[in-house]
Order: sequence, then C-alpha cells, then structure tokens
Amino acid sequence: MSTSTLPEMPRPGIEAEIPYLPIFLDVRERKVLLFGGGPAAAAKASLLVRSRAQVMVVAERLCEELHRLFDEGDIAWDEQTFQPSMLDDAVLVFDGADDPALTDLLVRETRARGILLNVVDRPAACDFIVPARLERGPITIAISTGGAAPALARMIRQQLEAAIPEGYGRMARAAARYRQRVKERLPGVRARQRFWDRMFDPASAKALCRLREDEIVSRFVAALADADDTPAGSVQLVGAGPGDPELLTVRAVRAIETADVIFHDALVPAAILQIARREARLVSVGKRAGRASVDQALTNRMMTVAAEQGERVVRLKGGDPLIFGRGGEEAAYLRERGIPVSIVPGITAASAIGAELELPLTHRGVARSVRFVTAQCRTPEETGRIEWERLVDPSTTLAVYMGRDQAGQIAEALMRAGMPATTPATAVENGTCPGSRHRFVQLADLGSSVAALDGRAPVLLLIGDAVGEAPGWQAACGTNDISEPAPAAAVG
Ligand code: SAH
Repeated sequence: MSTSTLPEMPRPGIEAEIPYLPIFLDVRERKVLLFGGGPAAAAKASLLVRSRAQVMVVAERLCEELHRLFDEGDIAWDEQTFQPSMLDDAVLVFDGADDPALTDLLVRETRARGILLNVVDRPAACDFIVPARLERGPITIAISTGGAAPALARMIRQQLEAAIPEGYGRMARAAARYRQRVKERLPGVRARQRFWDRMFDPASAKALCRLREDEIVSRFVAALADADDTPAGSVQLVGAGPGDPELLTVRAVRAIETADVIFHDALVPAAILQIARREARLVSVGKRAGRASVDQALTNRMMTVAAEQGERVVRLKGGDPLIFGRGGEEAAYLRERGIPVSIVPGITAASAIGAELELPLTHRGVARSVRFVTAQCRTPEETGRIEWERLVDPSTTLAVYMGRDQAGQIAEALMRAGMPATTPATAVENGTCPGSRHRFVQLADLGSSVAALDGRAPVLLLIGDAVGEAPGWQAACGTNDISEPAPAAAVG
C-alpha cells in the first residue's frame, strides 16, 4: 500500500485570499533605485544597505544621513532628474521623493518594464510594501495587516518584542555556525529535523536563549554526540479536546507541531490542524454523519506503514482518545506490531461541556458519580441488551455520547426503568465550538429538544440531578416538581 494514495486534506485556509505575497527577497549585489534625498528615503536606504543591495539614490540634494552613507561608499548618488534609462537592470524602485508628478512617471515606467515599485506612504501606488519588522539577529519577523491597520501591525510587533527574547537571535547565530557540522553527522533530512526540533522545543529554547552564543554551541555539540541518525517512527494517540483550540493540552500542541503526518477525525477543526507544520501531511480518516469514513483496518495499516518508514505519526481524535475513541484498539494493534505508541489525553466532551454550562458533573449531596455511556453499540443486538435499570441511579450523572439520534428512545428507556420524567437533562450540540447550542429540559422532553437542534453536529446528553445545579437549567426549568406545568425549553 502506498501512502501517496491517501485521501489528503487541503491545508486549512488555503482558499483564503491574502492581500500580499509574503516573501523575503535576496537583493545582494542587485541594483535598487531610490528616489528622494530626505529622511523617508534615508530610512529605506539603510534597510537596503543592510540587505547588501546596490543602492542608487536619485536626488538633487542628500540629507545628512544619506550623505554619510554616500561618503562611506555604501550607496551611489545620481544628481540628475529621472530618465527612463536609470531603470535599466534595477530589480526594485523606491520612491521617497514626495513629488506627485515623479510618482506618476515612475508608476508608468516601472509597470512598462515589469519592475516593482514602492512609493513611501502611498500604498495605492505600491506594487509591494515594506512590512513592520521585528529583528533578532538573523531572525526577521515581518508583519502586515494588508494595509488595513498599520497601527495594529505596530502593536503586534510590540507584543512580539516582549514574547521573543533577544536570546533567540543568539540561538539562530549559534545554529548557523553549527549547521554544517550537524549536516555531516546526520546526513538524513529526518534525523536532522528531529535534532533541531529537540534543540528548539519550547522548554530547551527557553533555557538556551539565556546562554551566550558559544555556550549554546556547546549544548549543540553535546546533543549531537548522542543523536540518532536513523530515528525510529512512532505513533502518538492524541486527544484534540472538544474543538476549541484553547482546550488542547500543551503536550497535544507539541505533538501536532512536530508530527510528520496526522491522521485526524473529521470533527477536528481546521483551527487545530493549522498548528501542524507546513510540510506535515494531513489525512482525514474520521467519519462525519452521512459520509463514509476510512475503514478502521485501513487507518491502522496507514499508521503502521508511516511509522515503519520512520515518521512521527499523530492520530488526532476528538475529546480524549480513550473515551469512545477506539484509542485502546489502535494502541493494541500498534503494540502488536512493535510500533512505539504513546497516548496524550484530551478534554472529553462531558468535562468541556460541564465547564461551558457551569454544570457540575459531580456535586456534593446530589451526584456522587458520573458515568460516560453510549447507546451506540457495534450491533443492534448489543444495543438491545443494554440494561437500563443499571443506569438509573439518582446519585449519578449520565453523560451519553453518540446519543443524538436515539435521544428520545434513551429517555423513554430510562423512564421505563424508573428514572423520574422530571430528571434534569440537557442536550448540547457542538459544545465549546462556534455555534455551540444547548437545551435545558426535563428528561421527558429530551427527545424533542434534540429534534430542535441542527441535527448534523455532535451532541452530548447529560442527565441527572446535578444538571439541575447548572444556572441555565434553573433559569429554564425552574423547579424539579412534577406538578408544575411543562417548562418551556431554553435555547442556548
Ligand atoms: N473521544 C471523544 C468522544 C468521541 S465519540 C471525547 O472524549 O469527547 C463522539 C461523541 O462525542 C459525539 O457523538 C458526542 O456525543 C460527543 N462529542 C464530542 N465532541 C462534542 C462536542 N464538541 N459537543 C457535543 N458533543 C460532543
């Protein structure tokens, strides 16, 4: 089986239009024309000189700063007025002259020759813009809001300034010094990638960035001494939580960031998949109501093949991998084939939704236990064998997974088995995600409350007296007294 035939997902957000093409341009020894002799031109000139461009300034007079650059031989100076032949061999043109007639001329002449033009403070006349920047040694972070709000770009830069210590520049310089050595010692691309990933994982980076450059290099030397040049593949079963990226664990983020390939459930949202590195392959194997899923046996085989090829595989599942996530089956399959497997827990739907609705799953004096159950079994016979009486316990909160389509039957079965019709209950759709909706009801109304939801998204049912402790339930259903008229359902 070839991994190239896998149903790969397009990168999330790939269709979205972006206002500018983000590139870093190599202008070393290339001719760049700069019009104007004032401070605006000087600011561009120093940037261009630092990029080692061959700068030709066209201006009658030069301000002090430009004069200094000229005297030091960093820039050339032409005192004549604009002539089209000046554009010969230029790769870029900057116009900082603040002369509308010249700008019009430059727009026309550069267009005609396919040369890119930047006009200072006139974004409409620009082919490219110079982004706000943050520099740390050789690291350059460029920020653009696409012209929407330059002030916002500056604010983002300030925040990054605080978040990215100066030491990162030293780390980058140390890495540049040591790169060739790593390349010789670890000829395989994957082994090298692992080595650098390990050096720069957030914890090590935090420690390294406090050190001097040669101390950082010594750390690289020590780590390279025991680096593995044919690293083994592995599989991590990772819980992605209920959907909100903020509810990922730190370990899950790390696993997603460093994965070579991610086999993910359909329900894992794009915002989480976006954490993956650009080169990572994203393979959707989960099913979404009504659409076929990739067969479990095929998923298992694909994970095995990828791990045997030395890849770091992440199997990304909604919620927690070990709660109705087949994590146990997949781990056993991989272990049998000798593939190193580890499990990263996730926040299960019931926990996340409890928090979202301020609904205590256990509550002193009300619920002493919580049970995660599903009414969806492998076969109808198995479903028929559910002993509902055993689920009826006034001191337990029931969290029913995968119960959307049978909510009415589940409520009926529980009531037949003796659970009071007035038992507080809720149906929650898309909990913690955009479009999260819920209904607080009494058990008797659970079926109709689910029918009123969207009907495609995942739904969790919570049933039990503890549900009555949620402020939303009290507001919607008020009291747990059967003599009251049927309460109106609340839409969250
Ligand atoms: N491993 C997952 C459960 C997978 S079974 C976990 O620990 O949460 C899929 C079921 O989980 C869905 O049918 C639904 O009952 C529940 N579920 C998962 N995410 C949910 C969400 N965001 N909102 C509501 N229910 C959710």
